[in-house]
Amino acid sequence: MAGKADLHIHSTYSDGALSPSELIDRAKNVGLSVISLTDHDSVGGVEEAIAIGDKKGVEVIAGIELSACFNGSEIHLLGYFMDHTNKELIDSLAGFQEERMKRAMRIVGKLNKMNIPLDIDSVLEQVRGDSVGRPHIANALVNEGHADSYHQAFTKYIGNGRPAYEQKRNFSPEDTIQLINKAGGLSFLAHPGRSVGEDLLLRLIKAGLDGIEVIHPHHSPELVQYYRGIVGEYFLLESGGSDFHGGQKGDDGTFGQFGIPTSTVEIMRRRLLSN
Ligand code: AMP
Ligand code: ZN
Ligand code: FE
Ligand code: FE
Repeated sequence: MAGKADLHIHSTYSDGALSPSELIDRAKNVGLSVISLTDHDSVGGVEEAIAIGDKKGVEVIAGIELSACFNGSEIHLLGYFMDHTNKELIDSLAGFQEERMKRAMRIVGKLNKMNIPLDIDSVLEQVRGDSVGRPHIANALVNEGHADSYHQAFTKYIGNGRPAYEQKRNFSPEDTIQLINKAGGLSFLAHPGRSVGEDLLLRLIKAGLDGIEVIHPHHSPELVQYYRGIVGEYFLLESGGSDFHGGQKGDDGTFGQFGIPTSTVEIMRRRLLSN
C-alpha cells in the first residue's frame, strides 16, 4: 500500500505549537510515513526531526517556507531536500529572522498607537525558536485580553491589510529560488490559492521553480484540478501538505488529511538526481 506524505508542517522552531518530537508522534498516529518540516525562515528543527523520525519510523525531509516579494505583496516558496547546513542558506536565514524581529516591533508599535498596550516581551515569550511571526503576536493579543480569539487578532489587527499589519522586506522570487537551488533543494510555490496570475507563474518557472503545492487546506477540488493541469502543462512537480500549525490555529482535527502519496515524493527525488 502506498504511504502518505505531508510536506508542509510548522513546529516550535517558527510559529507552530508542537515540537518536532510531538509532530512526529502525531504524524505516526495519523498514518503519515513521510513529512517535511517547513518552518518559516528556519531549518533549526530539521536535524532533530530527522533523528527522532529515524527512531520512530517516520521519514523527515529537510524543508523550509520562505517569503518572497512579488508586486508589493508576499508569496511563499517551499524548499525541500536542501543541505540544511549550507552556509549561504544559514546566513540568509539569519537575515530573514532579524527582519522578522524588526517587523514584530513595528507591529507592536502600531498596536500601541491604537491604544493596545501590548509589550514586545509578551510576544517574545511565545517564541520558542528563532523566527518570530504574526501567530506569536496573535497569541500574545489573546493572552493579554486584547483579542477574543487567534482568528479575531488577525481579522481585527494583524491580518494582511489590517490596521496593524506591517510587511517585512523579502528577497525577490528569483533570489529565493536560487537560494534553495544552491543549497541543493527543490523549490515549490506554496498555497497559490485563487490568485496566482500567469505573470507570476511564468516568472517563477523562468527562475527555475520545480513545482507547485497543489494540495493545501485552502484549495477546493476545482483548484486542485486547475493546478494539476498547470503542473502537467509546464512539466512541474506536484507537492502537498496540511500547513499544520497546531495550538490556537485550531487545525488539529484535520492533521493527516492533506498530503500526497509517497510515490509523488519519489518523483521529486528522481528530479533531484537528474538536476
Ligand atoms: P508571518 O510569516 O509572520 O507573516 O505569519 C504568517 C502566518 O500567519 C501564516 O503562516 C499563518 O499561519 C498565519 N496567518 C496569516 N494570516 C492569517 C489569518 N488571516 N488568520 C489566521 N492565521 C493567519
Ligand atoms: Zn506559519
Ligand atoms: Fe505560507
Ligand atoms: Fe506554512
